[in-house]
Amino acid sequence: MTAKPVNMVFIGYYSLMPDPNDVPPPPETQPAPAALAPMRIGEHPALDFANTLAAPAEVLLDFLATPAALLDWLAGTPELADAHALAQQAGARGELDAALAAVQALRAAWRSALPRLADAGARAALQETLNLWLAAGRGHWQLVAQDGALRLLHVTDYTGPDSVAAAIAAVLAGLLAEVPATEVRKCENPACVLWFRDTSKRGNRRWCSMAACGNRAKAAAHRRRLRAGDGGG
Ligand SMILES: [Zn+2]
Repeated sequence: MTAKPVNMVFIGYYSLMPDPNDVPPPPETQPAPAALAPMRIGEHPALDFANTLAAPAEVLLDFLATPAALLDWLAGTPELADAHALAQQAGARGELDAALAAVQALRAAWRSALPRLADAGARAALQETLNLWLAAGRGHWQLVAQDGALRLLHVTDYTGPDSVAAAIAAVLAGLLAEVPATEVRKCENPACVLWFRDTSKRGNRRWCSMAACGNRAKAAAHRRRLRAGDGGG
């Protein structure tokens, strides 16, 4: 890897984007407890998808660890209604395990690409990866009567377990096509793995949530100041 030239613009940019590769990964991944609601703080379904792996405590919790969890998560994500319908069809055909494996593989590729979204080379590689997933999807147009009017809808067809991941890939591709990379941020808590789209007017959102990581960082800074005041004791 070659060093990037540092200038004032980059200093400001990098202070907003700490390199997640500097942080050791949490020690183990566990299925998220059914009682725990998935994180939906991403302000975009593509980022909520990345956040189905979350580390609220010491371990990495997987909210898509089982076929049932996948169905639940898709059911709670209105932007992925077509993926949910496809997952139900995969279930009816006994192919939900294979669909889940494809979705998890897509998520792994997506999560590893997110930290480098602003880099043109990494973006091109991600574009290629997503196009491969998108190619697994098929669909057709259909006229549907709705509220006394006709609407033209694109209907995704089930063509095998990969079609679930393909429908999710369309939402990821939507983020790439429509959202500036500078709005896609990781929570600044180095131990936190959550991503969000910064939709704040001033573009200064730093935390997945103030209640979790924001207050934790404030408390840590306060403790550091106290220790400094005590002469390091
Ligand atoms: Zn966080």
